[in-house]
Amino acid sequence: MKRIALLGATGSIGASTIEVVCSYPEEFKIVSFSFYRNLEKGKQLIKRLLPQFVAVATEKEALALSKEFPNVQFGFGLSGLVTAATMSEVTMVLTAVSGSIGLVPTLEAIKAHKEIALANKETLVMGGDLVMQAAKEHKVRILPVDSEHSAIFQCLQGNPRENVSELLITASGGSFRDYSRAELKNVGVKEALCHPNWSMGKKITIDSATMMNKGLEVIEAHWLFQMEYDKIKVILHKESLIHSMIVFKDGAYLAQLGASDMREPIQYALTYPKRVEIKQATPFDLTTIEALHFEKMSFERFPLLKVAFEAGRAGGTLPSVMNAANEVAVEAFLNQKIRYLSIEKYVQEAMMKHQNHPIPSLETLLEVDRQTRVMVNEWIKKGLF
Ligand code: NDP
Ligand code: MG
Repeated sequence: MKRIALLGATGSIGASTIEVVCSYPEEFKIVSFSFYRNLEKGKQLIKRLLPQFVAVATEKEALALSKEFPNVQFGFGLSGLVTAATMSEVTMVLTAVSGSIGLVPTLEAIKAHKEIALANKETLVMGGDLVMQAAKEHKVRILPVDSEHSAIFQCLQGNPRENVSELLITASGGSFRDYSRAELKNVGVKEALCHPNWSMGKKITIDSATMMNKGLEVIEAHWLFQMEYDKIKVILHKESLIHSMIVFKDGAYLAQLGASDMREPIQYALTYPKRVEIKQATPFDLTTIEALHFEKMSFERFPLLKVAFEAGRAGGTLPSVMNAANEVAVEAFLNQKIRYLSIEKYVQEAMMKHQNHPIPSLETLLEVDRQTRVMVNEWIKKGLF
């Protein structure tokens, strides 16, 4: 039996993971999980999943909950997440928190020899080098949950890496894929949250519209598959049916197709290397699909994708600056404090002001993350853009 720590149980990936886990009670058990702001849902999950340990946001909440649920242990903050991820009972950690908070618990879990199923792409964007080194050193497997990376991972099975010449990541184009740059000037939060193909958390839905999500995924792919940036390509594919592809050096393409349903890559990560019958599949019928479309990606239309390639290539602390600035700007957009197109301006400004540290320690990465947040928040308060 796999005994799972689910970081971010109250989120979109958290909910899909719980569905998969609960379909196979004899295979999986969630022994610990975390939630943050959603106390109501968190309490429901405690009653439903009967975990041993739960990580919450604050000490006050942890104290109150331990009175309400005396059979459960509670922790809080970052140390709570680390405990949830490293407890001796846990064999696999599924990191589904959103944002840079995922890095430290994932690294600690690797050091504690837990298998990792990784949804939180920010972990590799910030600390790809440290995380992959730690995984190698501790002989820990990192299984991708992100659908594109799961697709590539599935295509790579049985295919030696040296035969692969390119990774081709598909992008739906997000909520505003049919808008021109001029039309983006006055778009609002509600429209931005209407993703055409996937139902996801708010932050990643905005990132999909700005194409920052694809940028983060390019960096994630670089680290997961040890592929040079020149050999990672992004193309627009509005049906999101092909989740991604690999190209072989002899010119053959291998693609993975399926429904836009995160339960599928989550299940693959949980059952890997086995394939197990899916219990709650979304209907998928190729005969109802009239055509598949592919388009060249435009860096002019989606400048944040170009920015992400630059950050990835530069390495060091720059991807962390990009990520932190983006997290703060997206939050501000969601709270209607800045306009949609200002997101990219804040990200670019933060990166321009940054003096890159080429080989940062974890402490440096976390400090850069903190400083960037403070700086971008100040700029937003002043209304820089
Ligand atoms: P959601 O916003 O739906 O959920 C985020 C989860 O993280 C919630 O459980 C939330 O708790 C928790 N959380 C947020 N901030 C903190 C914090 N500071 N400390 C501790 N916990 C926190 O996000 P998604 O499920 O959509 O995405 C999660 C991760 O997976 C992201 O990194 C995303 O990029 C990645 N991903 C998501 C996909 C998707 O389809 N949704 C696809 C591929 C990757 P609470 O709700 O209680 O506040
Ligand atoms: Mg994805």
